[in-house]
Order: sequence, then structure tokens, then C-alpha cells
Amino acid sequence: MNNFEFKNPTKIIFGKDTIKKLENEIPENAKVLFLYGGGSIKKNGIYEQVSNALSNVEVVEFGGIPANPEYDVLMDALKIIKEQHITYLLAVGGGSVIDGTKFLSAAAVYDGDTPWDILTKNIRTQKGMPFGTVLTLPATGSEMNSGAVITRASTKEKLTMGGPGLFPEFSILDPQVIRSIPERQLANGITDAFTHVLEQYMTYPIEATLQDRFAESILQTLIEVAPKVLKDPTDYKPAADFMWSCTMALNGLIQKGVPGDWAVHMMGHELTALFGIDHARTLAIVVPSHYKYNFEAKKAKLAQYGERVWNITEGSQDDKAYAAIEKTEAFFKQLGIATKLSDYTEKYEGTAEEISKRFTDRGWNGLGEHQDLSPDKVEKIVKMAY
Ligand code: NAP
Ligand code: FE
Repeated sequence: MNNFEFKNPTKIIFGKDTIKKLENEIPENAKVLFLYGGGSIKKNGIYEQVSNALSNVEVVEFGGIPANPEYDVLMDALKIIKEQHITYLLAVGGGSVIDGTKFLSAAAVYDGDTPWDILTKNIRTQKGMPFGTVLTLPATGSEMNSGAVITRASTKEKLTMGGPGLFPEFSILDPQVIRSIPERQLANGITDAFTHVLEQYMTYPIEATLQDRFAESILQTLIEVAPKVLKDPTDYKPAADFMWSCTMALNGLIQKGVPGDWAVHMMGHELTALFGIDHARTLAIVVPSHYKYNFEAKKAKLAQYGERVWNITEGSQDDKAYAAIEKTEAFFKQLGIATKLSDYTEKYEGTAEEISKRFTDRGWNGLGEHQDLSPDKVEKIVKMAY
């Protein structure tokens, strides 16, 4: 196992009817910016629950943060933070609203030329403006981690940021919120969380027994609850299992002491930036070809995953490893998620070359858990995903 340090300061408030507990978490003298997305919270009762819980503090609202939080929209929110002397941020939404809020937390205290630097110059925020979240969509784990992904439509970029000062102070997780989530977003959430685990688990060499078992248990739970959640999102038990699995998939725990791959996400972000494909769907496109391309290096772990998660008992190590990739792709398809780039766009020719060029221009010469995935290899993987 590699050496590690682990600190996750986010307080989780989990369970039925917990949104009202918001009133205990925000400092009395705070001036709050209440941030949300395209309006789903106004139709499902969450807006009302949050507003009621905020009745004792001064609140300014900012709605309209789009999926794949857009830099230009966030800059409008930043203006309000500065003009109205906001002291506390509250994100009510999925990964997009929470990530957008993390950007604002960082940008509010940043004194460089332009906040876009935070994304392009890899500026790590040590202490941002304090914020909490009310999660409305289990998927990203953003409610209990310190990372964010921000999109800039004008340049077709989607870049990551983070830092130890960007953990939410608290996150409220009421599994009842999934009742109103459309099937497409539920499927996305399952796929994103599943891939988060794979990024931290499907690495080599194999040397951390407990982390592997943690990862496998999250994957098994997601596989078990996926059909139940899709069939009936009002059923509380699978909803709770689903929500907590998504948080546990990316709150740092299973990443400690082991190498992280994350190449699938880096390639996937480019597909969202170029074509606007939902984040989770870009991962389902890249996963099969990434593991096929890196088969030799990852096959021992792939076979272990096949045996333990998919109960594949027949055949050689190679057979099990290959079958595990096929099972994974079939799982995404069962959720209604297509796994080829050509399923989403007719204009896929040239995509691999473009992504490879972008990575070269950014100096991203070695992705993956051993930093050996060069842009020419990325090009081959993306081409395999057409
Ligand atoms: P999302 O983009 O936050 O939301 C997707 C859609 O779901 C929106 O249209 C939203 O509508 C709707 N929605 C949310 N909650 C709902 C509810 N309870 N009922 C009905 N509709 C609801 O989706 P996401 O998958 O959570 O976030 C994706 C973003 O997170 C991507 O940008 C991705 O790159 C990023 N990400 C971040 C991390 C991280 O660790 N920080 C990890 C992976 C991915 P409204 O806008 O109307 O509310
Ligand atoms: Fe993700």
C-alpha cells in the first residue's frame, strides 16, 4: 500500500426529511447565496423545503446554473457575491450546481487576473468561501469531495479544479429527492458512480486488499440497486443505498493508498466539451476501449473484478478479464446508455486526433495510474470508441 494522508471534513446529514436541518448548519449572521440549477427544485418541493429552513438568515438567490456548469453564468454569480457582500454559499442541486459553487468558493477569494486561471493554471484553493450543499441527484460524489469540473462553451473546454479548501462544510442527503429524477439522470448517476470506483480500482499493481474490497462492495451494491431504483424511485431502501454508494464512490476513502487512473474521465470531459454529451455517457463510451487497449497491464485486476463482482468463474485469467469488460459494457447498455461515440454524433471523425492534440498542447503527456498514457495512445483509445 502507498503512504497516504486522509482528511475529509465534510459533515454528512443523511436520511428522510433532513433538509430542514439546514437551519442548524448555516451561521446565524451569514449572508447566503442560494444557488440552484434549471428549476427542477421548484417543481419537486425542494425549493420550498430549503426556503423554509433558511427563514432566519439573509438570503440572495441565484438560479439557472446549467448542467456542465458554465463559466460565463458563474461569473454573473460571482458579481453578485462581490456586490452584495455574500459570506456563505449554499448549493442545492446535483454535481453541476455543487461544482459551480466550488468554483465560486474559490473565485470569491482569488485575487489573480482572471478566475479562469484557477482552471488553466491548476491553482489549488487552500481556503475558499464556506459553503454547504443539499444534494438533489446522487451521482458525482461532489457533495463530499473537494474537486469540480467547469465548462466554457465559448472555447469548448471542460477543465478540472480543486484543493483542500473546497470540501463542503456540510451536505444534506435525503434519499427521497430521487423521486422526481428522470430515468435518464438516474442511469447517468449509476454510471458515473460506477466509473468513479473503476477509476480508483482498475489499476495495477494489486496491493491494497481492503481498498479493493471496499471498491468491489460499492460496485456490487450499484449493480444490485440499479434495476430497483429505475423501476421505482419512490422505494426508500434502494434509494438510500444508491445515494450513499454514490457518495462513498468518490469521497477519498477508496482512493487512499492506491494509484488512481482517471484517464477515462479526462477523455470523457473532452467528449462533453466537444459534443455536449452527458458526463456519465462519455464515460460509458470510453470505458470499454480504455480497458481493451490497456488489457495486458490491467488484466490481473480485470480478472479479479470479473470473479468477485460479476461471479465469472470459467476460463483463464485472460478469458475472465475480457468477460469482465463485456459485462461492464452490457451493464451500461441495460441502463439505456449507448457505448459508442457514433451512437451520439455523426461527426465523430477527427475526434481522436483533436483530443490528442489538446492533451499535447496542455502538456498532458502521461495520463493513467503510471503516467504512461501519452497523447498518441489516447488517440488510439478514442478511435476504438467510435
Ligand atoms: P447535473 O448536471 O447536476 O444535473 C442533471 C440534470 O438533472 C439537470 O437537468 C437537473 O435539473 C436535473 N436534476 C437534478 N436533481 C433533480 C431532481 N431531484 N429531480 C429532477 N431533476 C433533477 O448532474 P450530475 O450528474 O449530478 O452532475 C454532472 C456534472 O458533475 C458534470 O459537469 C460532471 O463533469 C461533474 N462531475 C463532478 C465530479 C466531482 O467530483 N466534482 C465527479 C463527476 C462528475 P435542474 O438543473 O433543473 O435542477
Ligand atoms: Fe464523474
